[in-house]
Order: sequence, then C-alpha cells, then structure tokens
Amino acid sequence: MKTFKGGKHVPDFKSLTENAPIEQMLVVPDYYFSLSQHIGAPATPVVNVGDQVKAGQLIAQASGFVSANVYSSIAGEVVEICDRPNAQGTLSKCIHVHTAEKQEVETLPAMKEVNKQTILERIALAGIVGMGGAGFPTAVKLQPRDSVDTLLINAAECEPYLNCDNRLLIEKTEEVVKGAMLMAEALGVNQIIFGIEANKPEAIECLKKHENQAIRVDVLKTKYPQGAEKQLIYACTKRVVACGALPASVGVVVQNVSTAVAVYDAVYLNKALYSRIVTVTGDAVVTPKNLEVKIGTPVSAIIDYCNGTTEDVAKIISGGPMMGFAFADLSVATTKTDSGLLCLTKKSCDCSQPSNCINCARCVDICPMKLEPVYIELYSNAGDLESAQKYGALNCIECGACAYVCPAKRPLVQSIRLTKAKIRAEKAKENK
Ligand code: SF4
Ligand code: SF4
Repeated sequence: MKTFKGGKHVPDFKSLTENAPIEQMLVVPDYYFSLSQHIGAPATPVVNVGDQVKAGQLIAQASGFVSANVYSSIAGEVVEICDRPNAQGTLSKCIHVHTAEKQEVETLPAMKEVNKQTILERIALAGIVGMGGAGFPTAVKLQPRDSVDTLLINAAECEPYLNCDNRLLIEKTEEVVKGAMLMAEALGVNQIIFGIEANKPEAIECLKKHENQAIRVDVLKTKYPQGAEKQLIYACTKRVVACGALPASVGVVVQNVSTAVAVYDAVYLNKALYSRIVTVTGDAVVTPKNLEVKIGTPVSAIIDYCNGTTEDVAKIISGGPMMGFAFADLSVATTKTDSGLLCLTKKSCDCSQPSNCINCARCVDICPMKLEPVYIELYSNAGDLESAQKYGALNCIECGACAYVCPAKRPLVQSIRLTKAKIRAEKAKENK
C-alpha cells in the first residue's frame, strides 16, 4: 500500500464518531468572529458597534494579498470589537455579534459564468482558506508561481479521533468531487488525486464511484502523519518536496476535503464560508458528535450541546491529539480551521512529568522529516538557536510524532514549536 518513510501506526479512536451523521448545531445567543482565521494580515472590520448584520454578510475585509474576508454566520447586532483569547493561547481581535430573534440570510451574488478567473474571484470573495488547519487563502494557493499538473485532495485525515472529512466524503461526496473539479479548473490541471487512508472504507467506496480518467483515488496505508503535505505528495506521486520548498515546486497543489465543499458552496450555492464541520469527541464528552457549526460559536456552547463533559475531564484540545492545542479558556470561538474538539479524561491523556532523555533514538526513527528532534530540543533548551536551526528546526512540520513515542515524555514538539517562533522573531528583527 502507498505510504512514506518514517511515521507510525497510532490507535485512531475513530469509532467514537465515524458512524455519527453530521448534525446541525442549534443557534446560541452570542458569536465571536476572529479577524485572524487565516495565515497573513488580519482582516479589517467593515462594520461598527451598533450595526445590524445578516447571516452571510461581510463583516471584515481581507487586508492584503495573503488575507481573507470574514462573514457573519448569524443575523444580529454588533455589540463590540474586542480582543479575545484564541486556541493558540494568545489574543485575537474579534467582532462580537449578539443573535437577533429574526434570522435573515444574505447570499453572494450569483455567478454569470464559471471559468478559471471567476472561480478564483469567487473563492477569494467567499473568504475560503485551507480548512485542514493551515488557513492559507485558497485563491492564492491556486495561483502558484511554478507550473503544476496535479491537484491532490488530502482526504487522509490521519489525526486520531477526527471524522469531519470522513463524514463529508460519505454524506457529501458529490459536493467534494465537484468542489475539487472547480479547484482543478482554477489551477488549470487535468489530474485530481484523492489520497485517503485505508481505515475509511465507506468513504473510499463513495469516492471510487467517481474515478475516471481525470480523477484517481489512492488508498494509503493508515500511518501517522500520512496527511502531512510532503508525506502525502510522496505517497501518491513519489515526488519529493525539498526542504523549504513548496509542493508546487514538484507540480502539485494540495487542498483539503472541507475546503472543496466550501468551494462548491461558494460557486453553486452562493454561500460564503461561515460554517464548518467539527468532530466533538473523546472519552470525556457525554455525546460525541459530528456537528455543522456556525463559525464564531464559543467552544463552551458546542460542548454543552453535546451534553457536556464527564466529571473526570482533564484536557480539552482544539484539533486532534497529535497536532492540537489544549484550551486554556473555553470561551474561545470556532474559526474556519477548527476541525475537532477533543475532550479527554486523565486516563486518556498522559499528564506525567518529563524525565531525562535516555538516548533511545525513537524520536529520530519516527520523524517523517528525517530530523533529530532530541538535538533540536537540546539546543533549544540551551538557548542555542543557531545550532537548533542547523539541526533543521524550521523543517519540522510539528506533527507531534516524536513527542508521542518518547518514553521519557520529553515535550519535543512543544520545544521545537517555541524554537521556530524564536528563530522567526529574530529573523524579523534582523530584517527590520
Ligand atoms: S521533529 Fe517535527 S517533524 Fe519530526 S517527528 Fe517531531 S514534530 Fe514531527
Ligand atoms: S525519544 Fe525521547 S528519550 Fe528517546 S532519544 Fe528521543 S528525546 Fe531521548
């Protein structure tokens, strides 16, 4: 079966929600729309406190080439524009909308023609970004400088517990495939590959019905991190993306399943991106679900909708257990890139303290980027950023596999993430 070198099969815990159909979450009293739901400059508000807005109305405009529009997911009144905590533990500027009794919806103008240029314009207008977690504006990614021949749809969903893409592939196969075809047209390529892990047999069956000369379904070995961009490209095409290079350098652009549905909605339903599927799961949530959630919904409200958490809840994570961030505050609101809410009991999350490294090299063996995480952490702790960089800190994809296998429970990926932030901050200072 197709795969990449390194990585590891990890227990997937998908069974908690893999058969749970997508359910629409009820409306809540307040929504908070972050202006930074994407990589790049924060969007600029185009509403003021006191304004009445409709669901689907533009409330903040992209403020640069790599930025994205933000739409309200609810009709109501803008009550404040303020700093609020985000899942990464910092603050983001948010527009707070209080829900109105009467719900009015605004759609995007109908498209007169569907062609390469109008699709790109529609994707940018609808505020669509990579919904797998990266948040890179999709219209920008679909206009690479290099010439490309393949659109690769990342249907791997290799993070344990998560099922939002899996359920979309089962319940909205047509929308996923048509969304992918629209992106292929915008990109100017004739080949679409769906890369999907073998542990999703129902979704594979649905996708296989759409295979033809232009669309191929590659069933991949279930191994973490199969869905990491470079690893997925290698598994499906045997092309190697060099360190520091983009997938387009080997003729490939990778897009996510949820993003494909958002593109379909924007082009065929004139709907901007203001809702998404979130898997709410883990042994500490009372009723695990796959929910269609309005963007801007507070995490606490989503958990309440799933009948709350068990008494022994120890950690609530944004995303999956390997790459996600533990919440410090449940008032954080959902963004375009949030695919999961994972609630774990103490029994399920190892909260033991790190001990000294025993030089077992397990972190080196597993690293899909062929790095030596043990040394990066060592230099990082010593404050030697130059050596950490020589050991490839900036090439780390933050998959978390090294920390997962470390018997000494060293916080390897956390150290590397911090090191990368410090290196980037130093570079920014130098450039100034
Ligand atoms: S060093 Fe980075 S890329 Fe390698 S296993 Fe650790 S987190 Fe993943
Ligand atoms: S896996 Fe942990 S204990 Fe083993 S070498 Fe790496 S850091 Fe050290």
